[in-house]
Amino acid sequence: MIICQFANIVNSMYYLYMNRSELHKRLADEPAYREKQILESIYSGRAKNWDEITSIPSALREKLRDLPFFCFEPVNRVVSTDGTIKSLFKMSDGALIETVLIPNKEFRTVCVSSQVGCAMACGFCATGTLGLTRNLTADEIADQVLYYKQTAKVTNVVYMGMGEPLLNLENVLPSVDILNDLMGIGARKISISTCGIIPGIRKLMDYPKQINLAISIHSPDDALRSKLMPVNKGFPLAKLLETCAEYIKKTNRRLMFEYVMLSGINDSDEQAHEIARLLRPLELVLLNLIPFHQTFLQFGSASRNRIHDFQRIVELEGVDCHIRHSAGVDVDAACGQLARTHYDKETRVT
Ligand code: SF4
Repeated sequence: MIICQFANIVNSMYYLYMNRSELHKRLADEPAYREKQILESIYSGRAKNWDEITSIPSALREKLRDLPFFCFEPVNRVVSTDGTIKSLFKMSDGALIETVLIPNKEFRTVCVSSQVGCAMACGFCATGTLGLTRNLTADEIADQVLYYKQTAKVTNVVYMGMGEPLLNLENVLPSVDILNDLMGIGARKISISTCGIIPGIRKLMDYPKQINLAISIHSPDDALRSKLMPVNKGFPLAKLLETCAEYIKKTNRRLMFEYVMLSGINDSDEQAHEIARLLRPLELVLLNLIPFHQTFLQFGSASRNRIHDFQRIVELEGVDCHIRHSAGVDVDAACGQLARTHYDKETRVT
């Protein structure tokens, strides 16, 4: 594991904040196409500073020179032995968010945060212990992808980092537009994950872009799900699954379900049968089993054998089921861990 502190280079032009609304104001006297030209240069990942936007006159580049390039300052970056890179970004108001790049042979997937912290308080999630500070803006979300795009060809984006994306759709959907329209990432390569916010799922039924939706389910029964995920008290399984059926019918898109495998909690043969029987009527579904990343929280991951047995049962029951590769296990890659560690260090009384 390699740890790089970025504090010494944050004053370089490359890593300063980019405020797109300020850019818009500065271009008020310019022809209308200039802003599009500039945004295309930035979001293509080709231009890493103002000097590299050669499609605009040098006088304009000078005028923009003091404008920051990113919405945030990278403050920590950790590289796993498997190539996963986890970055911690400090926003202009001091808020911290995490973003992860997960490379494999075929894909380079960026996992973005949509909020600073999260109000959903899922019991197995480090971000849930932080509470919600605020929503991220569309620029702040898109810049997380841009940051990695400058050094790697990003193929996929998942909204599975800090926060509940469906509680910030007013910024999440415009950020999808930036990724899709300006960064050239196909809508089918973009996945949004939710803990089960029914009104948000309903809104996505009418969303025209062919993005993927993933529902974190984690338990086949209400009692356990409510313990693990307080959101279940407001949006219980029966209503959630009814909404999912409606979503599939209306969009004809396959839904993904996420299931974190917690040892002795939700990983029994019986629970495998139950979750399969719940999902089977939906037909167009895939269940992803996720090994749990060990955190400071009091849960353990189900063993490899247990996860494989669980998968076998779900598939025998007639539901497609994959085991997600566990990326970056040595770098606190579970959502919220790096930010939590950073907050703990900053607030530690010595
Ligand atoms: S799992 Fe997702 S929704 Fe639940 S607390 Fe963590 S970030 Fe929020």
